[in-house]
Amino acid sequence: MDLTSYAELAVLLVNSPDRLTGLEGLRALLEDGGRPRQASRLDRDDLAALRELREELVAVFEAAAEGDEREVVDRLNALLRRHPVHPQISDHDGEAWHMHLTEGGRFSDQYIVGAVMGLAAIVTDLGADRLGLCRASPCRRAYLDTSSNRSRRYCSERCASRANVAAYRARKKTGKERTGL
Ligand SMILES: [Zn+2]
Ligand SMILES: [Zn+2]
Repeated sequence: MDLTSYAELAVLLVNSPDRLTGLEGLRALLEDGGRPRQASRLDRDDLAALRELREELVAVFEAAAEGDEREVVDRLNALLRRHPVHPQISDHDGEAWHMHLTEGGRFSDQYIVGAVMGLAAIVTDLGADRLGLCRASPCRRAYLDTSSNRSRRYCSERCASRANVAAYRARKKTGKERTGL
């Protein structure tokens, strides 16, 4: 079971504050994420739990962006204590045997355990510096840096090119100032 892939759940939540203003938005988020079955059984408690988790995850990504690994780990450990894993093997819906991190409970419990375990796996397998916040101001969307040389700085190609254009304009401007044009 590839736990690191679960970390995408954390990224999705951090980057979707606009989808957490109501149940409809959250349902749409899960449908976009290919989880229509789960989307149908959400309620207000799930929404509240996921909104709270989002705040916690933003703090985790901020600590990582500041290079404060200890803070990242302390925050993740606190989340792991509050949302324990109860693994079960399942073959629902005709799928092959596979592991669920936590069985039963509400949807938000499963989502939270997945997101937190995913981040914990990234930090321990790859390093806390793999968690980042986009540097193309004012974006600040979260991303996971899975590049081989840890070179990722932006959430998307769009932000990367926007930052490149801004840097080019800044260079051109200082160049002009220097030559007096
Ligand atoms: Zn399953
Ligand atoms: Zn961005």
